[in-house]
Amino acid sequence: MRRLVMKFGGTSVGNAQATRSTAALILKHRQDWDEIVVVISAMAGITDQIIITIETACCSNPKAYKAQISAIRSQVNQVINELFQDRSQRFLIRDQIAPRYEELLKLCQRIHNIGKITPRLYDATVSLGERINIHILSTLLIENGLASQAVDASELIVTNECFQNATPLQPATRIKVENRLKPLLAKKIVPVVTGFISATEAGEITTLGRGGSDYTAAILANSLDADEIWIWTDVDGVLTTDPVLVSDARLIPEISYSEAYELAFFGAKVLHPKTIFPAEEGNIPIRIKNTFNPNSPGTLIVPNNHPKGVPIKAVTSINDVYLITIPKRKSDERPAIIKTAKKGLKDQGIDLLGIFQTTDARFIHFAISSQTPPQQISIIEAELSRLLPGRGYSKNKPSAGQAMVSAIGNQIENMPLIIAKVNVLLEKAGINTSLFGYQTSQNSLRFLIPCQDSEKALRKIHSEVILNASF
Ligand code: ASP
Ligand code: MG
Repeated sequence: MRRLVMKFGGTSVGNAQATRSTAALILKHRQDWDEIVVVISAMAGITDQIIITIETACCSNPKAYKAQISAIRSQVNQVINELFQDRSQRFLIRDQIAPRYEELLKLCQRIHNIGKITPRLYDATVSLGERINIHILSTLLIENGLASQAVDASELIVTNECFQNATPLQPATRIKVENRLKPLLAKKIVPVVTGFISATEAGEITTLGRGGSDYTAAILANSLDADEIWIWTDVDGVLTTDPVLVSDARLIPEISYSEAYELAFFGAKVLHPKTIFPAEEGNIPIRIKNTFNPNSPGTLIVPNNHPKGVPIKAVTSINDVYLITIPKRKSDERPAIIKTAKKGLKDQGIDLLGIFQTTDARFIHFAISSQTPPQQISIIEAELSRLLPGRGYSKNKPSAGQAMVSAIGNQIENMPLIIAKVNVLLEKAGINTSLFGYQTSQNSLRFLIPCQDSEKALRKIHSEVILNASF
């Protein structure tokens, strides 16, 4: 018995043509597998539009947010009209979807009335893009002769109450998934499930973080003991670097879980980093494939991967990271500061991108994403002032303008020769790397450099270390 979970991203269901290709791929691969579960994102751009709508609802007049709801509705209707020739079919789908717009309107009215977007209200609204989309794809599959059913993942994935970035509770999720999906699979029905969405034990909608549909696929695959996870996206697979910045970026045919995690965590947009955890737990390989170039072999993400020749597999960059800087008082204080700050950040649910220090070792810098909301930064600064009193750093704004460039490869931190060579390479290119990374992972080297140099660093490492195997 072979079971596959396939996830299609926003661009794969972003317009009528892409949705048709997606349906064709499902029909094709259905023949090779005993059971298939499909997970989909909202149409490309819809989640962002919903966020703009609730922000408008929060601070503007009802006319403005109502107009935005209408715009979302007409965009979705256009796709429906292009996909379905039959009028009665169109009406049927519109009927299935209509309650979602009513929900959106009501939620916007509430946000408008209270004048703020609470994390609960945020999740209830942003989930609607996926909850609309499942009906379109599922109906299209039925029209093409496949038994299919739209399933809302709030019926499947149980999480804690950390709205906007919820953590799944595995045993409870497994029970729900088994009860709800297995009977469908036994009847040869292909479930089309909302990505990104989950619910608390009390049934309130939560979300798994932006881009979380990949994670949904892995959570379901693990709960179903699936054989493989396929992530269908709009690029051929995991690439050696960002193809927008470096034109000769190449496809990586195979990569390990830990490398893929670091790549995603340090800026590659191809996969949500958390996807790796349930896949690794269930020992399930992940394949990244391109909906728009399905014959490309893609990238296979597997448990163990022995580096063949090239120690650095990929290089990524994150621009404008924030630095929270803590002055050191005594020479032996570093471990205590790091431990305290790491805990403070973790308690606030903030992902630490890296720890850096200056060559004179007077300051320790904690790099966090510039996407971190300002309220959260104030909380973490207050928390750090409490834990490490009297340093004055809490009065400083976290500084931006720095980019974090990461070179990723298995056990790279245990290869001093490579580390030295990369440092020399950057130095020769005139890139200031006076802030050096303090170990947080064995599989990546991280450099904090001025933003204006990040592309240059990316190109140098890519051309001279990754592509040039004789390095
Ligand atoms: N629709 C959600 C987002 O835009 C989730 C996803 O696409 O994976 O973040
Ligand atoms: Mg994505």
